[in-house]
Amino acid sequence: MNQFRLSRRPDIGDQIDVSFEFFPPKNDAMEARLWETTERLQPLSPSFVSVTYGAGGSTRERTARTVERIIRETALTPAAHLTCVDATREEADQVIRQFLDLGVSRFVALRGDPAEGVGARYTPHPGGYANAAELVEALARHGAKDISVAAYPEKHPESPDFATDIDMLKRKVDNGAKRAITQFFFDNDLYERYVERARRAGIYVPIVPGILPVHNFGQVANFAGRCGAHVPAWLAERFEGLEKDPQTHALVAAAVAAEQVLDLVERGVSDFHFYTMNRADLAFAICHMIGIRANGASEDAKPAAA
Ligand code: FAD
Repeated sequence: MNQFRLSRRPDIGDQIDVSFEFFPPKNDAMEARLWETTERLQPLSPSFVSVTYGAGGSTRERTARTVERIIRETALTPAAHLTCVDATREEADQVIRQFLDLGVSRFVALRGDPAEGVGARYTPHPGGYANAAELVEALARHGAKDISVAAYPEKHPESPDFATDIDMLKRKVDNGAKRAITQFFFDNDLYERYVERARRAGIYVPIVPGILPVHNFGQVANFAGRCGAHVPAWLAERFEGLEKDPQTHALVAAAVAAEQVLDLVERGVSDFHFYTMNRADLAFAICHMIGIRANGASEDAKPAAA
């Protein structure tokens, strides 16, 4: 084994930036879990934490409430996801202003999926922003400081080819996006090839891999099918037979995610975005593996809630 691997360097954690994604909780129990999760992850000093926006803008108030509480009660920097699906330009502009008034200056600008869910046919609102590129332009016009957008290492399911997909990413960046965050993926070669394609098209912003720790393989496989992410056969085999064995499932999930992230570190990746599903355990463990330590050491690192 090569002891000089990048991922084994003692200072590697200092070179890596992480961000965490949450979704707005639907009830009190979910809310309590989210705050335990933010408490657990905060000492890892993420560059930001982002809060998703439900299909068709359905969580607008809950997203705003969650972001507001992050600002009020934590030292974390929030980024608000925002979609333009099913909204007029005026409505989208109003939400942008609402977030800016709350003190939010970071956004993740998305087109969004129709209210019927991922995979349903998308039709732009006749009076709205047609796609994420137009939403980025609106955010920049309103003075948003830091705009991220989505990228798809396996191309977006609606893109007829990679050229169309990369072209849309370029439009988003040309309109002011500072970084792209990828859809989750399990094959690092696909990510690397996508980054190469983007660089060749003159896109130079960071393309941050979105890492999905597999809390529930069945759910991930189902969701992946709908959003065009490929689940390799080897991954399915690793989780085979673990449906009723949550403990082993969690251990395998940690190993799978660590393997993926460490390999990306070896390939020179220094920024990671974790889809936490509002759970701290796997994200925390993987960050630990890549040398990220809780500031203030052990007394801040409370054990994760069951
Ligand atoms: P766009 O960039 O506007 O378009 C996506 C792709 O569709 C493009 O690559 C392009 O090739 C193709 N396309 C678009 N228009 C056309 C056209 N006219 N002709 C041909 N091809 C076209 N969804 C939510 O609802 N809420 C969230 O909070 C949320 N957060 C996300 C965070 C990340 C990091 C990612 C990766 C996705 C997220 N999504 C979220 C999902 C996202 O809304 C969907 O993937 C949606 O289908 C596309 O959004 P976009 O911003 O990528 O769209």
